[in-house]
Formats: sequence, C-alpha cells, structure tokens
Amino acid sequence: MTPPIKPTSNAPVVVPGGHGPVVINRELIAKYDKPGPRYTSYPTAPHFSESFNGSAYLAEIDRSNRDEADRDLSLYFHIPFCDTLCWYCGCNVVITQKREKALPYVDYLKREVDLVAERIAKGRKVTQLHWGGGTPTYLEAEQIRDIMSHVHARFDLADDMEASVELDPRDCTKERLAALRDFGFNRASMGIQDFDPVVQARVNRIQPEDLTWKVINWCRELGYKSVNVDLIYGLPLQTTERFEHTVEEVIRINPERIATFNYAHVPWLKKHQVMIKEDELPSPEEKLRLFEMISTRFHDAGYEFIGMDHFAKPADPIARAQREGTLYRNFQGYTTHAGCDLYAFGITAISQLRRCYSQNVKKIPEYYAAIDAGHLPVERGVLLSEEDLLRRDVITRLMCNFELNPADFEAEYGIDFGTHFAKAMELFDGFEADGLVVREGGEIKVTPAGRMLIRNIAMPFDAYLGTKPGQRFSRTV
Ligand code: SF4
Repeated sequence: MTPPIKPTSNAPVVVPGGHGPVVINRELIAKYDKPGPRYTSYPTAPHFSESFNGSAYLAEIDRSNRDEADRDLSLYFHIPFCDTLCWYCGCNVVITQKREKALPYVDYLKREVDLVAERIAKGRKVTQLHWGGGTPTYLEAEQIRDIMSHVHARFDLADDMEASVELDPRDCTKERLAALRDFGFNRASMGIQDFDPVVQARVNRIQPEDLTWKVINWCRELGYKSVNVDLIYGLPLQTTERFEHTVEEVIRINPERIATFNYAHVPWLKKHQVMIKEDELPSPEEKLRLFEMISTRFHDAGYEFIGMDHFAKPADPIARAQREGTLYRNFQGYTTHAGCDLYAFGITAISQLRRCYSQNVKKIPEYYAAIDAGHLPVERGVLLSEEDLLRRDVITRLMCNFELNPADFEAEYGIDFGTHFAKAMELFDGFEADGLVVREGGEIKVTPAGRMLIRNIAMPFDAYLGTKPGQRFSRTV
C-alpha cells in the first residue's frame, strides 16, 4: 500500500483505503461542502408520510412473504433508555434513572414481535440481528434473556447469524454481556467518542479509560469475535494534538472496525445540543486537520477507509464486501446484508422491506397504546415507486462502492441511463471537470478526491432534494 502523505497546510492529503485512497482537497471541499443527507435510506426520512400506516405496512409484509420469501431477515431492536444525556446525542432516547421503566417496555417489545412474527412465513431465516439505542445494556441480564428467548421462539435464527449490540461501558456489567453472548451475540460496538476528560466534561459524558478497557476485556474473554469502537470528531475543545491520545489508545484496543463520526451540530433538530458552546467547537479547518490525522494514523495501523468516516481491518466482512462490490447501506450504516428484509421493533424504529420504509411512533405512551389496541405502532413511512427503487439503487451503489455502471441499470430497470438522468449527468460534467469522478468505458468512477464528497456526488440522483420547505441536513464534510 502507498503510504499516506502526512498532513501539510494546503496540499491534498492522500489516505489509502480498501477501494483506493481518499484525497482531502481543501479547494474542492470548500467548493462543494454543503448540507446533504447521509443516505441511510432513500427517500430520506423527512419524506416519510403519515399516510403510510400500519395497514400499509402489513400489506407490504404480506407481499414480501408472497413474492420475496427467499429474502433473509434482519431484526433490529431499539432500547431507548439512557441514564444521562450526552449533549451531542443525535439518537432517539429516553433519559431516566428509574430502571423500572424498562420493565413494561420489554413486555411491549415482545408483543410487537408477536404482531409481526405471526405474519412472516416460516422458514425465512434471520441472518442478522442488531440491538441499538439508547443503551441496550441498560437492560438487566434477566430482561435481555426474556427478550431473546421470545425472539428465538418466534423466529428462525440462522446458526451463523451476525448479532451485534451497542454497548455503553458506563452502564454495562459482565453479567449482561454474558446474557447477550449466550443468545449468540458475537459483535459489540462501544461508544468512546474522546478519551480526553476535558472534552468529556464539555459533552456531559464522563467515561474513564480504565472502565472502557475493562468492558473491552470482558467482551474478549466472553468470546465476542468482533469489538468495534465509535469516536466523534468535531466536539468542543477538540484539537488535533488533544485527540491524538484517543486515536493512539484506540489503536492499542485493536478493534475490527472504527467509526469516526463527524459531529453534526443541529440544535434546531436536537434542542439539547444548545448545551454545547458553539464558540468551543473546532473550526471547519481544524475538523479537516482532525480527519487527516485520524485517517493517517488508522492507515498506518493497517485499517482501510470504507467511506463516510468508517475504517475496518482488511479481513473484516465490510472491507471484503466493499472490495467485492456487495457492500450495502441502511439505518445501521454499512452492512454486508444487502438482500434482507429489515424488521425493526421499539419506539422510533424503522423497518425496511424491499418496497417500503415503516417508522414506529416516537413516544412510549403512543407505542403502548397502539400495541394494546392490537395495532402495529406505525407512525409514518413510504411506499417506494419504481423510480424510487431505481434511484435508491444508484445512490447506494455510489455510496458503498464508489462506482456505477450505467449498463447495469439499463438492463435491470429498462431505461436509457443518459436520457433518464440527463440533469444529473449535466452536473457530473462539472464533477468530472473538477476531478471528482472519471468516466471510463461507459462506467463512472469516483476518484480519490471525490470520496470525501460522496454525499455531494450522490445528491443529483435524489429527486426529493429541496422539495420540502424547511428541510435541513448536516454539512457533507
Ligand atoms: S449514551 Fe448514546 S444514546 Fe444515550 S445519550 Fe449518550 S449518545 Fe445518546
């Protein structure tokens, strides 16, 4: 592998990745950086509608069983509880120290599972399972066993299922980790964000290093085959120098995957983010320096850049899937399970069948009331048209694989790509002139300089962008 160029003032910085290097070119970033979606779905969540309800979702479940019963299943469980609120948090959470609040929630989750599972054809295998939040390890070992015994009884879980859980080291016991492991959980990801105590204080998340190490060691002792960590850059008072210690410590932890999320300061959407002092946030230039340092260090340590702030060891399944062109993106980020129906349970959870997205209600009382009435707790969603399916496919392939072959879409969707996407292709003339993409033998390839701007390159295919007044996204870089 070519070694990366060390960061210098204005020179483009090359960071090799599994699918080639990413180049950090300040001029191009200055030109193109603007608010844009992360495309964990298409259409994106702001375009979900309340006209899509529980009946529409049930009809899609039935249709999937009838027409696509060969698709495997992926299950997601949303455990929304956290003890304290991290001020940067962008998740849907319920902050409470009253542990008894989780008791009814566990029961209602099981009842929601019953409502869905009874519609799903026997024999469809669950090949992926994920618990997120909130904090899944907020639940006691007994509650974890209760939910998973129920899931085992209602679904056909594959022996080689990939089962992952998000951990909060501040709220995790070895007993809870063992309970998850007993039910086949084999991947754990934990939030670290930043080891610096000063930064931790600024975001209301005090997490001593020795505590994080203790939980990582428990995971390894218990036989979790993959331990992943999440970092955030762009938090208050972070500087390249300060953050180096966190990066070095993460390399010592030796995770299989590392997510380095770019902090999105969106107080108009997440009101509690006003607790973060804007004048203490790193400047855009400092954020770029942070990303350069992070990328260079992780590359030196043998990690591949997957895209959208993610790194993985070359042998990790997501790195392999990217090399093979089979990587996929959904609400949990990058995944190797492209062809699954995703059934999601719990408040705010979003299910994704081939032709629809369905999101649950956001408040616990509404969730309980819907289930008490025997209804699926659907609040909104969207039924995808043929055009949506085509555009989602284009955007996903660009985001995951950094290339497009128009001939594939012409054969699959019966279109003339150049005519169908004439407007997008005009914008691609500009991208090509700026060196973000090249067109070779009819294929479109994202260049190393384009990889940092992949959201901008995908945006011309988004037919909904700008159609909703007041819609705001985080910046693309
Ligand atoms: S632990 Fe995670 S989900 Fe809970 S408040 Fe902190 S960032 Fe949000």
